Amino acid sequence: MINIRKKTKQAVVLFSGGQDSTTCLIQACQFYNKVYCITFDYNQRHRQEIKVAMRLAKHLGIQEHKILDITILNELTISSLTRFNIPIPNYKFNTTCLPSTFVPGRNILFLTISAIYAYTIGAESVIAGISENDFLNYPDCRKEFINLFGNAINLGMERNINFEMPLMSLNKAETWALADYFQQLQLIRLETLTCYNGIKGDGCGNCSACYARASGLADYEANRSNIMKEMKKKCFLKNVL
Ligand SMILES: [Zn+2]
Repeated sequence: MINIRKKTKQAVVLFSGGQDSTTCLIQACQFYNKVYCITFDYNQRHRQEIKVAMRLAKHLGIQEHKILDITILNELTISSLTRFNIPIPNYKFNTTCLPSTFVPGRNILFLTISAIYAYTIGAESVIAGISENDFLNYPDCRKEFINLFGNAINLGMERNINFEMPLMSLNKAETWALADYFQQLQLIRLETLTCYNGIKGDGCGNCSACYARASGLADYEANRSNIMKEMKKKCFLKNVL
């Protein structure tokens, strides 16, 4: 029998060990009494991220970190993140169609499982580092999808889980500013893994994830105070913690 605990201010954070989810995790640790992390093993190409996520969660003092096996996602989807014989596209490769790095249903499945976990432990919020600015080609990063998805889940589970997407309206430079606001820019820079080729820190430099991360950092470093100001405005953050 499931024991449903009712406490205040608990959050489930979808945590991949990348720049975005680590920044969300750092913020959640400030805003929530208890944070539960959930990391998915779908036999992803850059599966090094699972080890990175474990190490970061430990470093950040997270006591509850679930690594869930959902390798069925790998069996069902054909993407350059789930198949080694499909090359990771170079960031210069522009396309108007969905990139080969799109894993259909991934965010839907991740958020659904996280909502089930939140329901069971009585957490009020599910938090994910999804941004509609980063990957305009990914339909499951759109605000419209998150809003409709949240409504459907809450209707289907008769709950009022808050689907918080702190980065939704931030660009990459502003995401770096958010990390800097929490005085964790160096941790994010050195210890997270965003690269589609599975290289920690600054990554391979050739994939679109590396490109977005590096150009965002360069933009932030070139114009810190204005970007910090804009980020605080978007995130409703005060001047001091
Ligand atoms: Zn890369």
